[in-house]
Amino acid sequence: MNYFAGIDAGSTYVKVAVLNEEGDLAGHQHRPTGIDAAGHARTMLDSIMERIGHPTSRIGAIMATGYSRRIIDVAEDTITEIRAHAAGARMTAPDGTQIRTVIDIGGQDSKVIVLGDDGETENFVMNDKCAAGTGRFLESLARVLELEVSELGPLSLESTAPAAINSTCVVFAESEVISLVARKTPRRDIVAGIHESLAKRIGGMARKARFESEILLTGGGGLNPGIVQALEDELMTDIHLPLHPQLNGAIGAARIALGKD
Ligand code: ADP
Repeated sequence: MNYFAGIDAGSTYVKVAVLNEEGDLAGHQHRPTGIDAAGHARTMLDSIMERIGHPTSRIGAIMATGYSRRIIDVAEDTITEIRAHAAGARMTAPDGTQIRTVIDIGGQDSKVIVLGDDGETENFVMNDKCAAGTGRFLESLARVLELEVSELGPLSLESTAPAAINSTCVVFAESEVISLVARKTPRRDIVAGIHESLAKRIGGMARKARFESEILLTGGGGLNPGIVQALEDELMTDIHLPLHPQLNGAIGAARIALGKD
């Protein structure tokens, strides 16, 4: 049996997905991008294949995507993140759902991709200019609150009175958070306010892209249940989550390596 790999070299994390010939997910890993995305990609490929029990040479094709895709020397070719996420959605969407919009929240950018009936990209809106609409916003504000990003979602779901965060810039939002802390606003309410603020930004992008249901949330933002809820409230519709939201782009790239899309 041969294998096919997709590498999503994002600004924050490098993700690797390996599919078997049938297109099933055979293994995956991710680690922070750091300063050697290409080295991390090679190490993770070897380690995934070792776990599967075959040499890395059994990988028939490797496709890279993501912000740093061009430095992934182990890949034969590259595709855009938009194409990778559209392809990933075809496999990662819950059974029986026809996804019409993919919202991807990454570390340094976020995207809204609207898909046609055939699953091909019809329209997209991307924000890579301002950290306020991205995972970086959450990382910076989590630091101010002395929380891990993985703690944000569960904490915000406990809030019944989200604080208002009005600044649309990370630097000013940090000052707002510091002043809310000084006024003894509970952290859960501050975090819920941070999620609402991010959801408003992404909601604006989704409306600009003329989003349609059903919606799939991908990227590291999909690991945060507080963001899922805030986006559902903002867009007034349910949001679907893949089993591995952060892996969607890597899975899409692997599907294209396999020739499935
Ligand atoms: P990129 O592709 O740009 O590298 P990712 O899709 O990997 O970005 O998403 C990174 C973002 O995901 C981080 O900025 C952070 O906000 C969020 N994130 C990462 N891990 C977690 C986690 N365990 N829980 C909640 N959020 C997370």
